[in-house]
Amino acid sequence: MSKLVNAERQSVVIVGAGLAGFTVACALAQQGYAGEVTLVGDEPWPPYDRPPLSKQFQLDGDESQVWLAPELPPNVKLQRQRKALAIDPRRQELCLDDGSTLPWDRLVLATGTRPRRLAQLDTLPRVLTLRTLDDARAIREALKSVASLLVIGGGPIGLELAASAAELGRQSTVVEMGPRLMGRSVPAAMADILLEYHRSQGIAIHLGRTVAALDDGAKEAVLDDGQRVPAGLVVVGIGVQANDELAAQAGIACDDGVFVDGWCRTTAPGVFAVGDVTRQRNPVTGRFERIETWANAQGQAQALASILCNPGEARAYDAVPWFWSDQGGARLQCAGALTGEQQAWRVDAAGGRVLVHWSGGRITGVAALNAARDFVQLKKLILPRTTITPEQLSAPAANIRALVQQALVL
Ligand SMILES: Cc1cc2nc3c(=O)[nH]c(=O)nc-3n(C[C@H](O)[C@H](O)[C@H](O)COP(=O)(O)OP(=O)(O)OC[C@H]3O[C@@H](n4cnc5c(N)ncnc54)[C@H](O)[C@@H]3O)c2cc1C
Repeated sequence: MSKLVNAERQSVVIVGAGLAGFTVACALAQQGYAGEVTLVGDEPWPPYDRPPLSKQFQLDGDESQVWLAPELPPNVKLQRQRKALAIDPRRQELCLDDGSTLPWDRLVLATGTRPRRLAQLDTLPRVLTLRTLDDARAIREALKSVASLLVIGGGPIGLELAASAAELGRQSTVVEMGPRLMGRSVPAAMADILLEYHRSQGIAIHLGRTVAALDDGAKEAVLDDGQRVPAGLVVVGIGVQANDELAAQAGIACDDGVFVDGWCRTTAPGVFAVGDVTRQRNPVTGRFERIETWANAQGQAQALASILCNPGEARAYDAVPWFWSDQGGARLQCAGALTGEQQAWRVDAAGGRVLVHWSGGRITGVAALNAARDFVQLKKLILPRTTITPEQLSAPAANIRALVQQALVL
């Protein structure tokens, strides 16, 4: 039975105290939301940020950099180390693992994702994954007593970790079954440059290979072609799967991710979802995708807070997806869809590179390596109809900021 409460006084229960859940709670408080807000998280820690876990935290172990805020706003109740077990959409209740139930007028699912595992290696003690602060602590601790790290999977988090371990003086190896690095998120030409960079830093990278076995005695892994590589510690970084079981069990439409529209609405009335757990329409490709990035988790969560505060006025969330990945001295930034049929490069005086894709004369995607300023400018041209040409981009003396501003006022 739906309860009749003023929209601005409805109780909001948020499941998942990661970046997305935390941001919804704080943005509601900032926007003066008068209803009760409860944040339920199954981890024992206050909300924290994941990006440092594969990067700076591995180098210095400084935990002060990971906490999202020292204190939550006063009207937000945090229930830590409390797992939500089931949603009862009819009674508008959430069942928790201590046997209690939480009533809600609005329920927000922000349950994120968990690492995919390799069943054949799962039970071995020196095989870890990286998602949580505890995972990061365990990896940092293990790295102190081994000479080498083997990362299985050439995606962004694995490469960041491999670069951190190399900086710590460990022998770093990456084994990727695909023909190139970061196959899901960067164009091949940019992946080739990254490959060269990592190899120049002493990281051994094996493409088109898998791990066939681990030799625990020798602390080595045996690849599918018989090569042996050092593997004092093994971290599996082969992607993630959505924590969408709660939604699926409640009959909400999911497919490795909870389907949401631009207003973060799921298929159940009063139930919303934000962050990595969602499958949302990518405004650049037009497809429903999981957009597993920090910027999306934060942006979608802020948008939902506005939607809950001003249901009639808020506009749909349609930001261009983008992410960054700091891999040692390589800062990679990608936005939009890097699949357009026309491409052009820009190389700046300091060696920073930008690769831009066009489709039908419009910019669809931008990938930058150590070229943050140009990236920020060119990203603005991804959805608008106005554009710059490949020739303008690549001209040696081009002032990208001026060109973008000119294009945007046309
Ligand atoms: C090591 C690492 C490095 C990263 N680096 C970058 C980067 O450089 N750039 C970038 O753009 N992105 C990066 N990301 C991705 C970014 O951190 C995520 O996109 C972001 O954390 C998503 O936030 P979220 O709140 O949706 O999900 P999460 O951060 O996964 O939070 C979900 C929370 O919900 C909890 N939960 C799940 N189920 C339940 C339940 N039933 N009951 C209660 N609680 C539950 C989970 O335990 C978790 O605490 C990185 C991620 C990792 C792991």
